[in-house]
Amino acid sequence: MENYISISTLNDYIFCPYSIYLHNVYMDTDEGLYHAAPQTRGKISHEAIDTKRTNNRRNCLLSMPVYSRKYNLMGKIDIYRTDEKRLVERKYKLTKIFQGQIYQLWAQYFCLTEMGYSVERLAFYEISRNRTIPIPIPNRNEELQFAHFIEKFRNFNPSENFIVNPNKCRHCIYCNICDKTEEDNVY
Ligand code: SF4
Repeated sequence: MENYISISTLNDYIFCPYSIYLHNVYMDTDEGLYHAAPQTRGKISHEAIDTKRTNNRRNCLLSMPVYSRKYNLMGKIDIYRTDEKRLVERKYKLTKIFQGQIYQLWAQYFCLTEMGYSVERLAFYEISRNRTIPIPIPNRNEELQFAHFIEKFRNFNPSENFIVNPNKCRHCIYCNICDKTEEDNVY
């Protein structure tokens, strides 16, 4: 399982590929050392699912582990409604949907379908505003785009030069421990 990519890191990779390297280096340390308020809030909303404290109805699969051999991905879904064949990813706040978040939802979709589940609808659910945002099922071109992205992720070398964006660094949870920047975290 070592070569599997965690679905939860796909959005972080787009934000900054170096953050994946830092995540792997610091993954065994106390998250309180670097987690800022937005990450903590998002984590708590996901823990509600992980500990099955949400409404655990008969037609829902909650927090189920998924994997894809085709893309070497593993992770967990948030909610799959078996009666509606609908996969939902919950977010506390969604002022904008980033491509990385869509890739994460697609990744869950590819895993589920490879595992034999029928998925006909995708959506985000914004907890803070109690609204559902439908997302189209990826078409053939989008699946190729996704495969290319996974390949880039897999081949990233942290010792290679990359463009550091100070604005991103100021909003990055690894800002205070990253050797690529002198910026201070805004949180
Ligand atoms: S602090 Fe900046 S360079 Fe370092 S991981 Fe975060 S975004 Fe990337």
